[in-house]
Amino acid sequence: MSGTFYTPQSAMAIYAHPDDIEFGCAGTLARWAKNGARIVYVLCTSGEVGIAEPGMTKARATAIREEETRQAAKIAGASDVVFLREPDGLLEATLNVRGKLVREIRRFRPEVVLTGDPTVLWGRENYINHPDHRAAATAALDAIFPAAGQPNLFEEFEKEGLRAHKTRKVYVSGWSQNEVFVNINDTIDIKIEALRAHKSQMKNWDPADRIRLWTSETARGKEMQYAEAYRVITLVDDETWEKTHGEILPDQQ
Ligand SMILES: [Zn+2]
Repeated sequence: MSGTFYTPQSAMAIYAHPDDIEFGCAGTLARWAKNGARIVYVLCTSGEVGIAEPGMTKARATAIREEETRQAAKIAGASDVVFLREPDGLLEATLNVRGKLVREIRRFRPEVVLTGDPTVLWGRENYINHPDHRAAATAALDAIFPAAGQPNLFEEFEKEGLRAHKTRKVYVSGWSQNEVFVNINDTIDIKIEALRAHKSQMKNWDPADRIRLWTSETARGKEMQYAEAYRVITLVDDETWEKTHGEILPDQQ
């Protein structure tokens, strides 16, 4: 089957910072996890410059934020978390980072990869999209296509048994050109709880009201109360995918 609502067998979220997944797509991932999908988080940085407190070192911040990320991933039902440990605040979409992502894509072989929109520079009137967000999204898309699926690129990974893998769909989260709305009515509380796990970032702020507001604005005009929105790119058609990976599962809800 095809269309807006379906549950992939596996999904990998590739983002820059520990809490990006919770803001962007954790409601979707939790929904898919509930329906049996295997979920993997890949964080390009460990957010080590994100705790501005006297006496805080980057090493300690790395440990704190990686632990918070593992908690958040567990809450959403993700089975694996990978940290690439690229420098927070200075992430670049280099060939080296692309190669690291190709390795993870070939290792986990996800049906869907979720990432940000590298073309988003402005957000409303008071926000510049973080350069790490743009770099992570560029590196992810460049790793997905064509690198991970092309046996003659990064062919050194073949020696480790990591064969080429073509991702079926890419879900691009962000602010523009959204055309697929995932109903997260049943997982909005999980999304909020997962975000709360990033204690070092929340301070005295509870994200519940803001997250409900944003996701209900996203759902406006749709037959759902809360939504996360994506631009979805289909790289492998249904028939070809089912030949090699078995039946595409319908959504359970
Ligand atoms: Zn971020």
